[in-house]
Amino acid sequence: MHWLIFNPKNEILLTSNGDVPCGDNAPVDAAQNHIFDLANNCKAFYYNNPAPQDYTFEWLRKAYHKLPNDLRETAFKASELVYFDSYLNFCPKCGGKMEYSSPISKKCVSCGNEIWPRINPAIIVLIYRGKDEILLSHALNFHGTFYGLTAGFLETGESLEQCVVREVMEETSLKIKNIRYFASQPWPYPSQEMFGFFAEYESGEIHIQEEELSDCRWYNRNALPEIPPHPSMARKLIDYWLDHRDEF
Ligand SMILES: [Zn+2]
Repeated sequence: MHWLIFNPKNEILLTSNGDVPCGDNAPVDAAQNHIFDLANNCKAFYYNNPAPQDYTFEWLRKAYHKLPNDLRETAFKASELVYFDSYLNFCPKCGGKMEYSSPISKKCVSCGNEIWPRINPAIIVLIYRGKDEILLSHALNFHGTFYGLTAGFLETGESLEQCVVREVMEETSLKIKNIRYFASQPWPYPSQEMFGFFAEYESGEIHIQEEELSDCRWYNRNALPEIPPHPSMARKLIDYWLDHRDEF
C-alpha cells in the first residue's frame, strides 16, 4: 500500500529518501479524516500536523517530477480529493454538515445540496512565429529560473479559445491566429486542469504585463533557454513543437 498524505499547504509526506511511504499501515494517524481508496494500491488522506521523525513534507509542485509516472497521476488525483475533503465541511447554501455521498462527492445532510471537487480550468499556449521561433516568458510566479508559455485562468462566459486570445493579448499585447487544441492534464495546485494549445503569431510588438511577467521574447529552436521540467503541459507543448517542425 502507498500512502498519499497531504497537509494544508498541498505538501505530500515523503520518506527521508524522497519516496512515498509504503506498507500495511500509514506512518501517521488519519484521525477523523476521510481515507480515499485509489488506483495503483494507494490510499490518501488529509493530515494537519508536522511530519513525524524520518519523514518530510514536500510541496507537490516541486516533488511531482520525482514520483514514478503511475504514482504521480494518482497523487494528482489524491491531492485534489484531499483538498476537497479539507475545505468542504459545511454546505455553502445552508450551513448544514456535508457528508460523503459517493467516493468523490459530498451531500448536505440538511438541504441535500451535492457537491463535487471544484476544478478550475486554465489554458496554456505555445505561440510560434515562422518555423523556428517560439515565444517564451518568465512569469513572476514561476518557481525557478526557467522560461515558460503564456497561461491563465478561464473566465465566466468564455470559451477556451477566447481565453487563449485574451490571455495572450493581456500578457504580451500580441495578436494570434490558427489556435489549435493539443491536450489537457490535471494540475493540482490545488485544483486546476490545464488545456494546452498551439497558436500562430499574427501581429504586434511584445509589451509585457508587468504585474505578471518579468521577461518575454522570441527564441530560436536552436537556442532555447532553460524550459519547464517534465511532465508539465508547457514541456509537452514545447517538445511536440521541437519534434514536429513540418506541422507548424
Ligand atoms: Zn445545505
